[in-house]
Amino acid sequence: MRRIAWATPALAVLLSACTIGSAAGQAIGQPDAVPHASTKDSTKASHLLNASDSPPTLPATASGGPGRFPPTAKGILDGKVVLVDPGHNGGNFAAPSIINRLIWNGRETETCDTTGTQTDGGYTEALFNWHVALYLTADLRAEGATVVLTRTSNTGVGPCVTERAAIGNEVHANAAVSVHADGGPPGGRGFAILEPVADGINDAIVGPSAILGADLRAAFETGTGEPVSSYDGVDGIQPRDDLAGINLSLVPKVFIECANMRNAADAALVTSLRWQALAARAIAAGLASFLVGRH
Ligand SMILES: [Zn+2]
Repeated sequence: MRRIAWATPALAVLLSACTIGSAAGQAIGQPDAVPHASTKDSTKASHLLNASDSPPTLPATASGGPGRFPPTAKGILDGKVVLVDPGHNGGNFAAPSIINRLIWNGRETETCDTTGTQTDGGYTEALFNWHVALYLTADLRAEGATVVLTRTSNTGVGPCVTERAAIGNEVHANAAVSVHADGGPPGGRGFAILEPVADGINDAIVGPSAILGADLRAAFETGTGEPVSSYDGVDGIQPRDDLAGINLSLVPKVFIECANMRNAADAALVTSLRWQALAARAIAAGLASFLVGRH
């Protein structure tokens, strides 16, 4: 039976609700660990209603490092593995010696990681990205996907952007998304998708990533009502050749800059749990559109 329980029309079409399955989670490198899932892990699609409460939580054993989380139910994403990469990390601010280390990003050197931006009121991008990733993880697992997270808390440091790409490659993710928000000019607003540029390493994923990007753009615009960026890219798409996360990826991958945290209108959105959940739901719809292969 199809039960339409999704707030985003595109996702309502794509994703049907199914029975709730077991909700065990385990960390990478700990295949024997079968921790208890939190109660919110199994409250399918209900978090939009409870968004003023708090984001979904991960199984209690999540250590802060990368983690792999199996489906909580069957759905149209059965068998799919999705890498969700919440940009930056809450501990980066206090660890400049670690995150400023130079790494090779496939084309040039860049720093291991950065702190990310924040609103004028001090709400950090790292926290926004983390919350969206939690909502997104719950949405994807509830539709049958296994989700691999590059970090499982907002209190750690890194990992380096090279490692964020490597994790997606190691698990052979069917799709990967880095979740960010921008620190653009205060007068500009909107979202943008950052797509890979061929560099020899990532050549095979440039085409599929463009399809993923188009699917995400359409779903995010429909699902959130957010306009495409007025200052970044063309029609919401911006090719980038300076990001390790996509320079080194061997799986289809894009970044999404969900909004401009330095813009007053966008800042009001990104600091809202309800909008964070809405953004996640829209990203899930875009990923689902790509993963069900209607191309
Ligand atoms: Zn960022």
